[in-house]
Amino acid sequence: MKIGVIGGGQLGRMLALAGTPLGMNFAFLDPAPDACAAALGEHLRADYGDQDHLRQLADEVDLVTFEFESVPAETVAFLSQFVPVYPSAEALRIARDRWFEKSMFKDLGIPTPAFADIQSQADLDAAVVTIGLPAVLKTRTLGYDGKGQKVLRTPADVADTFAELGSVACLLEGFVPFTGEVSLIAVRGRDGETRFYPLVHNTHDNGILRLSIASTDHPLQALAEDYAGRVLKKLDYVGVLAFEYFEVDGGLKANEIAPRVHNSGHWTTEGAECSQFENHLRAVAGLPLGSTAKIGESAMLNFIGEVPAVDKVIAIDDCHLHHYGKAFKVGRKVGHATLRCVDRATLDQQIKKVEALIKT
Ligand code: AMP
Repeated sequence: MKIGVIGGGQLGRMLALAGTPLGMNFAFLDPAPDACAAALGEHLRADYGDQDHLRQLADEVDLVTFEFESVPAETVAFLSQFVPVYPSAEALRIARDRWFEKSMFKDLGIPTPAFADIQSQADLDAAVVTIGLPAVLKTRTLGYDGKGQKVLRTPADVADTFAELGSVACLLEGFVPFTGEVSLIAVRGRDGETRFYPLVHNTHDNGILRLSIASTDHPLQALAEDYAGRVLKKLDYVGVLAFEYFEVDGGLKANEIAPRVHNSGHWTTEGAECSQFENHLRAVAGLPLGSTAKIGESAMLNFIGEVPAVDKVIAIDDCHLHHYGKAFKVGRKVGHATLRCVDRATLDQQIKKVEALIKT
């Protein structure tokens, strides 16, 4: 079976690493000459709107999936004429736009921060009165790793901020005084079968994920699964979907969803029976889903900007290096390490050893 992937970054690369043992081949559509997934399959180097190359991709593969959500809607619509595309155009339309996403959560009875659609500075001034400060202004689309957003703490922060974010459609959200951030990686097959991985506790720095620790018997697991299940059903979703939640007042508020494999699920490569990457491929290919059970105690640490010396990383017991083969650049995710340990105390010790190798 040949899988077409829109995007050829590290997520595409890790999909191919997981799918190759299942007998799958891969083709990646990505305009970047140095797309790091290209080492693992065919690289169609073209823009996402290039219909000749989209047609070529559709002709060559059995199905198409994505490694990022900001794919133009026309690209998905065009491909869907010729080849099955998972997740669906509708799932992408909702997940790529914070207004559609939060409105869907609200319709499904899933708690969210207070939010308002912002089309102008006047909208922002009015919404700040209703929602109050502090608040967070985020572009509705194309934001990632904390980009395209600003925390507003004082009235002075509000003035001219709409223009500062590019005078594009935004969402204003009430600031959530969360006690923690957790994510749930879910997978749903073509037949509707749904499985969930254990909740992951995430630590961010400047909006970029640094550390994910998989939980054991998290008290909010059932609630997180309930909320996520509503979304999966509503979207008739196929594939892996990541849910990011704020932990607040002993409950959860939904932050966002990502219609793809997710950075906070990277620990599953060594830490779960079947990784998020393999399960995504199983789901979109209509194959039986794999077990989402955790093996041991697991965590993932991102390498941002540069990967520490390989020999030092792999010298740490229980540590597995994932190097994306990307050029080093400030703020860019260039690799990660996963840890899988026998108990939590050992995991905490080994996390410290990996952290000591990361330059700050
Ligand atoms: P996002 O791109 O929406 O995931 O936001 C990136 C990070 O900013 C989140 O992981 C939080 O740490 C923080 N953040 C986003 N929205 C809020 C909010 N409404 N209240 C408090 N912190 C937030």
